[in-house]
Amino acid sequence: MPDAAIFADTGDEPDAVYDHLRWLMSPNVLPFPVHITSTGRLSEKLFQGDDEARVPFHVGAGGLSKRQCTRNYKLRPIRRKVRKLLGVGPKGRIAAGAVEIWVGISLDEAIRIKPSGRDYLTNRWPLIEKRIRRTDCMRWLERRGYDVPPKSSCVYCPYRSDAQWRDLRDSDPAGWQRAVEVDRRLREPDQVARFRGQLYAHRSCKPLDQVDLSTPEDHGQLNLFLNECEGMCGV
Ligand code: SF4
Repeated sequence: MPDAAIFADTGDEPDAVYDHLRWLMSPNVLPFPVHITSTGRLSEKLFQGDDEARVPFHVGAGGLSKRQCTRNYKLRPIRRKVRKLLGVGPKGRIAAGAVEIWVGISLDEAIRIKPSGRDYLTNRWPLIEKRIRRTDCMRWLERRGYDVPPKSSCVYCPYRSDAQWRDLRDSDPAGWQRAVEVDRRLREPDQVARFRGQLYAHRSCKPLDQVDLSTPEDHGQLNLFLNECEGMCGV
């Protein structure tokens, strides 16, 4: 049994994720506490010019912008919280292998397996160890009468296929509007100067609300989230 769960909040998740989190934290749901940790709202920090909040948006001139968000808004806050729970300060030594972190990625997402990068943290992937796929998790939940949880990621995260953008647009209008607004702000003149070019959430480098997402042309399109994102994003 874990001692605790930690959710690193970027402040930019879909509303359904926060609803689900509130339910998980309500009495008599989980037999261990859920802690929320945050470095602030990622999109706000990005527009304030914080280099540590860089998101890998598509660059109009080609390529992707540098990604700092996962490390600074997911991995580091979790490590800080682990230290706090252990009562060890930022410079304090923690014995190698002292903490085991269970990362909830399923067998379908095995490509996202990564070591923790810290001696004192040992990552484990219990669903993968038991060869459990996402559909198995959904069946498990449905059999017990639980809602299927929404997928977690920032609403504007550029690691999305067209099918995933369509799903956001069609199933979460408020989240889609937030993504459209963040995408639009990326190209305000002061942001263009700050980012040394125009950035876009969608790989076509068009404003998000002008992208044609109407055709199911995703066959063979990579799921960028699986290929690009660290294990901690979108768990
Ligand atoms: S979900 Fe995407 S935008 Fe959000 S922290 Fe992870 S990589 Fe960055």
